[in-house]
Amino acid sequence: MKILVINCGSSSLKYQLIDMDGEQLMAKGLVERIGIEGSRVKHETTGKDKKVIEQDLKDHKDALKIVMDSIIDSEYGAIASLDEIGAVGHRVVHGGEDFADSVIIDEAVIEAIKKNFDVAPLHNPPNIMGIEAVSTLLPNVKQVAVFDTAFHQTMPAKNYIYALPYDTYEDYKIRRYGFHGTSHKYVTERAADMVGKSKDQVNLVTCHLGNGASITAVKEGKSYDTTMGFTPLEGLPMGTRSGNIDPAIITFLMDKKGLDGAGIDNLLNKESGVLGISGVSSDFRDIEEAMANGNQRAELALDVYETDAAKFIAGYFTHFDALEDIDGIVFTAGLGENSAETRANIIKKLSVFGVEIDSEANAMRGEEKIVSTDASSVKVMVIPTNEELMIARDTLNLVK
Ligand code: AMP
Repeated sequence: MKILVINCGSSSLKYQLIDMDGEQLMAKGLVERIGIEGSRVKHETTGKDKKVIEQDLKDHKDALKIVMDSIIDSEYGAIASLDEIGAVGHRVVHGGEDFADSVIIDEAVIEAIKKNFDVAPLHNPPNIMGIEAVSTLLPNVKQVAVFDTAFHQTMPAKNYIYALPYDTYEDYKIRRYGFHGTSHKYVTERAADMVGKSKDQVNLVTCHLGNGASITAVKEGKSYDTTMGFTPLEGLPMGTRSGNIDPAIITFLMDKKGLDGAGIDNLLNKESGVLGISGVSSDFRDIEEAMANGNQRAELALDVYETDAAKFIAGYFTHFDALEDIDGIVFTAGLGENSAETRANIIKKLSVFGVEIDSEANAMRGEEKIVSTDASSVKVMVIPTNEELMIARDTLNLVK
């Protein structure tokens, strides 16, 4: 079966067409600036030249229409007819407490996703736009929602309740939800294979280190604790997000800088993190380049990032009875897959636990590989994530 995977942002739409017989990528692309002047589509069918289409697109339905046209284009498309698409899988950011797994989309599911607009005001509305656009353009095709939060619904209350008045949980559902669940789940399944365990037996600390970053303690294949929280702002510092700070800083800064809620939200989500500390960039490649040119704030930014990552990993070791019970530390996403230096720096900070990187094995990017020494107390693995494939697998399992 051929499955179309869709990931809608507020002004963007990423897609992949995957042939599940052999899990082969047939086509992929990105629509940018939806609803903004200068929209464009970058489409690539496997084995053919890339195609860029510049055309104003007023909404996600327009965007999806041009994606469908690109997929079946006789010159640069991947399939002859839209009838070949067996199902559509959507990345949906927030399933709240309603979804602990992926589901076939029906009216009740749409209502439940809408109910969670409150906790994911930036993410869930475009996800619904994508679902509604598919309903109009491919009315007979089954759609599946795969939630970023679902994998983390197995966390015990001690790891998701904040130390706030309990009625904030009861009245407003304020709790830790966790994100990047599809990625943590994907690498968990791959890691289980790599260490020869079944996927409901494997114990891991999985580190998704990209522009957004989160670390998860995986116990017996299930999320047990994770660093992102009520929103993706909590936990590690990220490209532009602050991660954990003293909450009192918020009212202090609002007062000093005369910021309202939207202003402080912007500062914490868009102006902080590695960009905030370095003043250089949110992209770690730029940070590394600035460091090579002697920029000390860039060096400080990366040091804070790596130090926090090591602290979370060390903290998550406490969720297991013994180091021998931990099957591995997994690095994934942009930085985790590609930066040998960051992996080495983080693991070095864990040497008190006897974790040891093999610098020769680690000198690579983007490969699925064990990069720790034989003597290391815990294996260290690099596993390139593949959220789209995970979404396609869940979609296939539900519709077949
Ligand atoms: P992601 O959010 O997973 O797409 O990760 C994107 C981030 O990965 C980028 O902002 C870069 O900072 C980082 N990244 C990608 N490639 C490299 C690389 N070769 N070295 C260091 N960082 C990288």
